[in-house]
Amino acid sequence: MKGLKNKNALITGGSSGIGQAIAIRLAQEGCNIAINYRSSPEGAEDTEEMAMQKACGDLENCGVKSLLVQGDVSQEEDIIRVVNTVVEKFGSLDILINNAGIQTECPSHEVTTADFDRVIGVNLRGAYLCARESIKHFLSQNIPGIIINISSVHEIIPRPMYVSYSISKGGMENLTKTLALEYANRGIRVNAIAPGATITPINQDWVDDPQKKAVVESHIPMGRAGTSEEMAAAVAFLASDEAAYITGQTLFIDGGLTLYADFREAWSA
Ligand code: NAD
Repeated sequence: MKGLKNKNALITGGSSGIGQAIAIRLAQEGCNIAINYRSSPEGAEDTEEMAMQKACGDLENCGVKSLLVQGDVSQEEDIIRVVNTVVEKFGSLDILINNAGIQTECPSHEVTTADFDRVIGVNLRGAYLCARESIKHFLSQNIPGIIINISSVHEIIPRPMYVSYSISKGGMENLTKTLALEYANRGIRVNAIAPGATITPINQDWVDDPQKKAVVESHIPMGRAGTSEEMAAAVAFLASDEAAYITGQTLFIDGGLTLYADFREAWSA
């Protein structure tokens, strides 16, 4: 896609699922990729290997660079170090993908303050702090930077038992819009994608259970869950020059989930 070759991209939580697919796709498009991981590097190493294989095949030196960078996005000092490392190793940063995310299931009246803070700390505060550090760099180097937040259909659909997750993704909508508006005249674009039910480790519970999977898919108008690659394709588009006039938007990629499947047939007079 236009404008991605030789761009430097940082993907948070790039060891698995949607983040892994985004890293691979951006490398295929010619981006240098910095893969952030929180604790153990194995998943990030797998991502790196698959990305370089797809981007370069058998070529010894295809020009695409990769970097693994440890850091917990709920820790401010880690984020500052991660962004600085990418800038130091690649020379600059052009694209930030705020992908790292967690969720916990619990009745809303029983959620502990610590659990609530943990989810908000990773999904929302972490995304903001990564954006803040990236924007500082974009402005200081006059870079027309790009930020893409990985939100969720729960940006707009309430999700009982997942109150902190719902709040974090609802907040992400406003994070996307506020930053987009504030920095539009400096050439920085900020957008989000909102995946529906996607086959990734975060959903292991139903992905591996045919009965549970069928229940999930019965709520999706297109009748199937999405794939990480389908999410990554939209991210590549939003990061590319093909989307040069798009900012402040959330693109829902959900097989029609947000069309409210219950209204498929008329159920009221
Ligand atoms: P996943 O569990 O495979 O990916 C989440 C990644 O974030 C993991 O690699 C994890 O190690 C990393 N991470 C967690 N805490 C971190 C921290 N403190 N610092 C750095 N990295 C951290 O699940 P996924 O489905 O690929 O999720 C990716 C994003 O997509 C999340 O933001 C999630 O909310 C969003 N999403 C997923 C779905 C879905 O159905 N899978 C739907 C909507 C939105």
